[in-house]
Amino acid sequence: MPRTFRVGIVGFGVAGASAAYLLARDGHKVTLLERAIDVGPIGAGVLLQCSGQEVLRHLGVLDHVLAHAAPIEELYARQLRSGRTLIRTRYSDYAPDYRAYGVHRGVLFNALRALVNTQKVDVRLGCAIVNRENTPLGEVLLLDANGSKHGPFDCVICGDGSRSHLRDVFGFKATITKYDHGTLWVTAPGTGVPGKLLQVVRGNRSLLGLLPIGDGLVSLYWGVPVREFDAVKARGLDALKQEIAAFCPEAAPVLDFLHDYDQLISTTYQHVHMRRWHDGRVLFIGDAAHAMSPHLGQGANIALVDTWRLAACLRTADAPVSAFTAFRKQQRAYVSYYATVTWMLSPFFQSDWRILGWGRDIALPLMPWIPFVKRQMLLTVTGLKGGFLKGRMEV
Ligand SMILES: Cc1cc2nc3c(=O)[nH]c(=O)nc-3n(C[C@H](O)[C@H](O)[C@H](O)COP(=O)(O)OP(=O)(O)OC[C@H]3O[C@@H](n4cnc5c(N)ncnc54)[C@H](O)[C@@H]3O)c2cc1C
Repeated sequence: MPRTFRVGIVGFGVAGASAAYLLARDGHKVTLLERAIDVGPIGAGVLLQCSGQEVLRHLGVLDHVLAHAAPIEELYARQLRSGRTLIRTRYSDYAPDYRAYGVHRGVLFNALRALVNTQKVDVRLGCAIVNRENTPLGEVLLLDANGSKHGPFDCVICGDGSRSHLRDVFGFKATITKYDHGTLWVTAPGTGVPGKLLQVVRGNRSLLGLLPIGDGLVSLYWGVPVREFDAVKARGLDALKQEIAAFCPEAAPVLDFLHDYDQLISTTYQHVHMRRWHDGRVLFIGDAAHAMSPHLGQGANIALVDTWRLAACLRTADAPVSAFTAFRKQQRAYVSYYATVTWMLSPFFQSDWRILGWGRDIALPLMPWIPFVKRQMLLTVTGLKGGFLKGRMEV
């Protein structure tokens, strides 16, 4: 018989918020624990892929989010020196009405938070979870940094992001690879190049991106080796603006808006691989389970698919362990595919291995000439490829 459970969710990000809403809507008793005292719209733009759009449609907030987003018909990258097209991926080449949307992370988060507010979710802010205890009945208690206990819970879902401490504390093994290159981001008034995520590359050392995100805003990102963050800042804002202006004239309106280095947010990324996502009572989802670099623009979308499928598994389960096992089985091929492809692709776009940049400049423009490869590339960017040996998946 399907049952309802007492569920503790750690982390009020994309994964935690959508899980809290879906599980509470299904009748589970949900407590959402977040370490921040105040949650709010921070960060820059993300690409909402067809997979993420499908989940938001099921959640009933797609139209609201799209009203504040910018349609992205193609991913376009050009080489700095030659001005030649490196790759042009048009979503409509896969299916006529397919496209991605650039959206401010805050718009997405606010839509999910509004959903959470429609349900009876016990939201506890300022609770940094630091450990767990098991009761004699096998329930889980969560301990926060102030010494308070939360629970007991029949199961716990950890959506505490790529830098999760709980993986270690709860005895899960993860292989973590930190990327040598990160980005500086700024969101500014402007449209960018409407309909396009424009990227300009010089080998794999330099990368600039302009992503329209709706509401008259555009996000600019500039790739920087992590070890050079301080040096770039020391050289000053004017030097950086000159370099970007020479790199990409289309970025001029964003540069006019930039007057203080602190407007830039520096981000680094890491790749997280967990062989085991759950121990029967505690499950990791979203970036905590499978963070990847943003080069394929999939992380938030996969977090949404995670929660949609997890809710479905819990709906028919007689115990959390069977739901978690079914969930892991369903997600395995899809998540492995995106994690592996992102892992392999990232150094071709940002790394110190120059030879990879040269190889990419030769190979990438040729790949779409092979119809099968082009089709697979298109399906991959939509976020709907179900695995290495699988075609289009249904969310
Ligand atoms: C530069 C950059 C660009 C990106 N671009 C894209 C893109 O274009 N498309 C895309 O789909 N994805 C993109 N991503 C990835 C996307 O942002 C993430 O995949 C997504 O936000 C993951 O959501 P999450 O809920 O798993 O984790 P997070 O959003 O990291 O949420 C984790 C939450 O857990 C809380 N927390 C952490 N530890 C504890 C604790 N111990 N106790 C309580 N609370 C805790 C944190 O405060 C936070 O609120 C990008 C990422 C980066 C860095």
